[in-house]
Amino acid sequence: MKIGFIGLGNMGGPMATNLIKAGHDVTGFDVAGVSVEGAAVASSAAQAASGADVVITMLPNGAILRDVAAEVIPAMTPGAVLLDCSTVDVDSARAVAAQAAEAGLGALDAPVSGGIGGASAGTLTFMVGGSEEAFAKTKPLFDIMGQKAVHCGPSGNGQAAKICNNMILGVTMIATCEAFALADKLGLDRQAMFDVVSTSSGYSWTMNAYCPAPGIGPQSPADNGYKPGFAADLMLKDLRLSQQAAESADADTPMGRAAMDLYAQFVEQEDGKGMDFSAMLPRFEKRGRG
Ligand code: NAD
Repeated sequence: MKIGFIGLGNMGGPMATNLIKAGHDVTGFDVAGVSVEGAAVASSAAQAASGADVVITMLPNGAILRDVAAEVIPAMTPGAVLLDCSTVDVDSARAVAAQAAEAGLGALDAPVSGGIGGASAGTLTFMVGGSEEAFAKTKPLFDIMGQKAVHCGPSGNGQAAKICNNMILGVTMIATCEAFALADKLGLDRQAMFDVVSTSSGYSWTMNAYCPAPGIGPQSPADNGYKPGFAADLMLKDLRLSQQAAESADADTPMGRAAMDLYAQFVEQEDGKGMDFSAMLPRFEKRGRG
């Protein structure tokens, strides 16, 4: 396929590389001037989009997505698909999809889980909102960039799935970290704590697969000085998106709000910026109740 790829950062770069390796014809554009080996370099987003069967965007936020979409939609060929893989607010995803539909284009919101490692290895999970037809057309691309693509329903539902998942993730990471810190203070050995919880009703992905305690459980960022992994800053972004969505949908999400407030404090007032989101554990270790 002829693919326009806009946003060649930490995630977009390796995703584009995998598409090129699989034999697709990729034209890339990034405002920062970065490029990817094997891709043609466009001088604007519109140029990257012109004549493409699928235009993929991997951008920082919804405001930038809206700007880029306004530029590329008029340049796209009717019948082509605009495939946004960024994590953005549900409202922006739905607004961009509506604009694309008006121009006779397919549109999908397909945020990912799996991080930079998953982008490089081609093992991302895509959560996809949009039409069956657009999903079927882009399925071969999901199969190259990822190991799984779940069609979640109409436009915006991919973003909805992503922020609900990450709200659970943020809340459970905090719960896991505060429980470890409590166990420490009660004199409970961390290995014993892991052995019990990972096989009892408190188990979770954060405990079993991404244990925040160094030297316990499988390898995780805790074993690498809490270098991300999944950065606390990105967790904060996703928790803010989930609260924004909860606000507009009138949903009561007290734990999600508490998690957002705590990650905001950690990243913006303490030393959490640039750390993995599991570095909540050393944060709790240092603190008492006061
Ligand atoms: P990044 O900052 O490394 O990359 C974004 C790229 O977009 C940058 O290279 C930037 O120059 C480019 N860009 C910004 N404005 C542009 C414009 N107007 N036109 C063209 N290019 C533009 O970010 P990333 O880590 O690659 O993340 C991209 C998206 O993926 C974000 O929405 C993020 O939330 C999501 N995400 C990231 C991870 C992760 O682990 N990094 C995991 C899951 C989802």
